[in-house]
Amino acid sequence: MALIVQKFGGSSVKDAERVMNVAKIVTDTYSNGNDVIVVVSAQGDTTDNLISKAMEINQKPSTREMDMLLSAGEQISIALLSMAIEKLGFPVISLLGWQAGFTTNSVYSAARIKFIKPDRLRSEIGKKNIVIVAGFQGVNKYDDITTLGRGGSDTSAVAIAAALRADRCQIFTDVEGVFTADPRKIPGARKLQEITYDEMLELSTLGAQVLNNRSVETAKKYGVEIEVLSSYNRIPGTIVKEVTSMEKMLVRGVTKDTDVARITIMDVPDVPGIAFKIFSRLATRKINVDIILQSVGRGGKKDIAFTINKSAKNAAMEALGNSFSELQNTKIECDTNVAKVSVVGAGMESHPGTASKMFEALYEIDVNIQMISTSEIKISVLIDINDADRAVAAIHRAFLPEE
Ligand code: ADP
Ligand code: ASP
Ligand code: MG
Repeated sequence: MALIVQKFGGSSVKDAERVMNVAKIVTDTYSNGNDVIVVVSAQGDTTDNLISKAMEINQKPSTREMDMLLSAGEQISIALLSMAIEKLGFPVISLLGWQAGFTTNSVYSAARIKFIKPDRLRSEIGKKNIVIVAGFQGVNKYDDITTLGRGGSDTSAVAIAAALRADRCQIFTDVEGVFTADPRKIPGARKLQEITYDEMLELSTLGAQVLNNRSVETAKKYGVEIEVLSSYNRIPGTIVKEVTSMEKMLVRGVTKDTDVARITIMDVPDVPGIAFKIFSRLATRKINVDIILQSVGRGGKKDIAFTINKSAKNAAMEALGNSFSELQNTKIECDTNVAKVSVVGAGMESHPGTASKMFEALYEIDVNIQMISTSEIKISVLIDINDADRAVAAIHRAFLPEE
């Protein structure tokens, strides 16, 4: 007998019919002699709709109250799915994050799981119940509800699989697995049979929404193999694991991230210590900086540009605005019309032509590159947001032509 963790995303439980479909998948797994813990997200657009409701009342609500509000979405789903499973005649119990033992830190709206106290989950499994757990939420040391950040239910599922040493962790979604690009945007995208944790971590950090990057981080840390598959049919999906048996593909995927802003500080004095002063001010405010570009000094002046998440742009501009003497006579600009397009693949490490091939694909469609950043297994470029979709398509065609 195996312990199987199954997670169903918002589109998989969006209405009564989809909830009944999930109940059937879960009870079939249970009927095959397995213990089953299910993690569910809020139905369809519920989380977005709750955010809109909040914005109608207060544009700057506290993150504590946002968590109180958003966690309600998952509470609805667990009850409805449990009712569907009851209707099919199976023993079932729904649990909120805190009931399932999720203890997080106190960073409301972006909490990290500290540990899962597994007693209740174990005891319900012991009673032969199918256990339905609300994803995306936990409780902190003040007994307040916290949420894990958008897409956090994936992490809830992987964390349960790690804590209970589950035999399988399946993430059901609305596509058949992890593809070489978003299959809804790139018709030629191919489904991958397997992908390594490192490659998947890059893909999800760089914009492939299909798995939340924290969930991949957690899976890698605890060695949890993840299967990403569709709740719409019953065909095998993509396995995310440490080492893949397939040959190293040069490029495993192409992604875009439009949640990016670029800040440029022009005419900074070309003297030591400036970069330290700028980036330490951002770090103090916990603003993550991604690509950094510094021009060669000319006439005692230089420019520094960097990218951040769009949501941090006001905080970053505030942190910098004339905050120290060397910034007095500079011009600081923030551009949100940018997108980061990336290629990811472990095969790149030993393949020097990858960057030039990517740049050629962009040149052929006349797209200007504003910034470039590379690591062993990825290359990212910053381009105009309006060029992003055709850039992904052109780069995908260049590396992964249709067979
Ligand atoms: P869920 O509601 O199940 O959590 P998400 O909407 O978070 O699902 O993630 C699934 C979506 O991710 C797909 O519908 C697809 O459009 C998008 N996606 C983006 N990049 C990829 C990729 N490389 N492979 C598969 N899906 C991707
Ligand atoms: N409901 C949350 C969201 O929409 C969590 C999740 O779907 O994973 O972000
Ligand atoms: Mg998701």
